[in-house]
Amino acid sequence: MTELLIVLATVIAMEGFAYSVHRWIMHGSWGWGWHKSHHDHDHEGTFEKNDLYAVVFSVFAIALFALGSRWWPPLWWVAVGMSVYGVIYFFVHDGLVHQRWPFRAVPRRGYLRRLYQAHRLHHAVEGREDCVSFGFVYAPPVDDLKAQLHRSGVLARRQSRHRDAWRPGRDDA
Ligand SMILES: [Zn+2]
Ligand SMILES: [Zn+2]
Repeated sequence: MTELLIVLATVIAMEGFAYSVHRWIMHGSWGWGWHKSHHDHDHEGTFEKNDLYAVVFSVFAIALFALGSRWWPPLWWVAVGMSVYGVIYFFVHDGLVHQRWPFRAVPRRGYLRRLYQAHRLHHAVEGREDCVSFGFVYAPPVDDLKAQLHRSGVLARRQSRHRDAWRPGRDDA
């Protein structure tokens, strides 16, 4: 029972951690170097430099598995929670939103739909500033995000800079 609680708490904590890393490091001045590859539209090949973040997180989890099995078992369960979060992240972000798997499955309704749209809106802004929705498992209501984008004026600025460059795709509306 305690083990399950550790796993659950870790998954929740990881979302907060991933949100913070995404917002302040990946979109910050020194983390953008890797993350930019994920926001570029014309990436080639199977992998992006941004995938290195997943590698770094995996190394942490592996270290915790090792520490947990030798010294303190709760750490092992923390590592399980991190891995569970990694699987959820891959399923939602790489799979549902970015279609990095060989089949197309766009959620049509419910919470997964909101998550999907929210992350599409994260990618609606060019560059690292003024982006919205940094979480991967929790997403604010889509209308709030749209209002936020309108308030910051970032889409209008962008549209006037190169007309027609951004059009909401058929899955964004
Ligand atoms: Zn981003
Ligand atoms: Zn993304």
